[in-house]
Amino acid sequence: MNTGFGNFFLDPSSRSSQLYQQAVKLMPGGNSRSTVFFSPHPFYALRGHGCIVTDVEGVERIDFHNNFTSLIHGHADPDVIKAVTDQLQLGIAFGAPTESEIELANLITERISSTEQVRFANSGSEAVLMAIRAARAFTGREKIAKFEGSYHGCYDNVEVSVGTAPEEMGPITNPISVSDSEGIPSRVLRETVALPFNNQEAVASIIERNHNTLAAVIADPMPWRSGLIPPQEGFFQFLRQITRRYGILLIADEVMMFRLAYGGGQETFGMEPDLTTLGKIIGGGFPVGAVGSSSEIMQVFDPTSGRPRVPHGGTFNANPVTMVAGKVTLEKFNAPAIKRLNALGESLILKLNQLFSQARVKAQVTGVGSILRIHLTSKPLTDYRSSFLDPRRKEIMSRLFFKLLDSGFIIVPQGLVCLSTPMTVKEVNDFVSAMETSLATLIEEYPEIRF
Ligand code: PMP
Repeated sequence: MNTGFGNFFLDPSSRSSQLYQQAVKLMPGGNSRSTVFFSPHPFYALRGHGCIVTDVEGVERIDFHNNFTSLIHGHADPDVIKAVTDQLQLGIAFGAPTESEIELANLITERISSTEQVRFANSGSEAVLMAIRAARAFTGREKIAKFEGSYHGCYDNVEVSVGTAPEEMGPITNPISVSDSEGIPSRVLRETVALPFNNQEAVASIIERNHNTLAAVIADPMPWRSGLIPPQEGFFQFLRQITRRYGILLIADEVMMFRLAYGGGQETFGMEPDLTTLGKIIGGGFPVGAVGSSSEIMQVFDPTSGRPRVPHGGTFNANPVTMVAGKVTLEKFNAPAIKRLNALGESLILKLNQLFSQARVKAQVTGVGSILRIHLTSKPLTDYRSSFLDPRRKEIMSRLFFKLLDSGFIIVPQGLVCLSTPMTVKEVNDFVSAMETSLATLIEEYPEIRF
């Protein structure tokens, strides 16, 4: 392994810098994916193997980013490569279904008890779009509710109250729906109701006020952009009761949290949703999305009696390359593998929290199992507002991100960290050591982070 990490990719003469200069001419800000940009520019990846990513400078780093959590078995998993290569020989895509989609559908419905049937799409965003449309068709209502700070992809109705500064969000008991993007029609804000996470009283009163117009409430079991804070005891049981009382469908957005348990985050937190959206790991690293539910609700997509109530096309839906990759990925991500990875992740959470208190740094780690988030604050965290990164904390987090990169570790710049199955205790311990070294110099630059 190349141990001369360093952030060479930032040197103007580096290959990454040169590629970036070409990219800015061809793509706005050199970018096709807002979520992977960081300033001044990202490094360009060359290859990945197991839990190691090599950039175009030839620098190898341990990958705790995993393409935003989607690579559960890390890079170039031999079983995924074999399945995909075999499928490529057979054909990349057909204007016909393949057996592979039945196999993946079978694995998913077997694992998620609330899901009798599924449909595949190409991204989590599409899955969310179709779940919301199905909920609207099924209930005959138009509004949806989502939690403040939660990200559910780039679909108009859910790009509301995502990255808003708390002071623009209105009172916690009655949050304002704020658009997260220009170009979203204002009627969308009237259709999307914002809810505060982990606040039963406020959620009850907002839902009661909108009960006969709400088609669905969409909830990520542990939304990372809201701080990766677990639901408080009883929160999802309360949400289930109140939505059921008013005939509002509950959508569990498991695009990221399916990794938490064999049956996903809904199993971990006792959610009992009507619909489930999936993505990321179920495609074995390839573009994917899926929506699942009871056969009764999924009937809205059924084309057998003429035009479906909700038509759902997509040139690449249930693409066989993705399907076979997803199948081997889920087969390997079985109960013992999940248990081992969760234990490894829990040990990282514990060790980082111990390090922060020993180093007397105002920081903490939230999360469950194999996914965690670093927060540079010692304040109690309960929801999006309490975990919001003000500009100063954002700056310090960014410095920490670069220091970790410099020590050979890739995380999501906002502090999200996730594990992959090729990782062992060694990678976890090395990460903790890198954090210790990074903190030593971070404290010198920002003495305010000490208590
Ligand atoms: N829902 C959740 C909970 C997500 O985390 C994401 C992506 N991070 C999405 C939906 C959108 O998925 P995609 O990026 O595949 O469109």
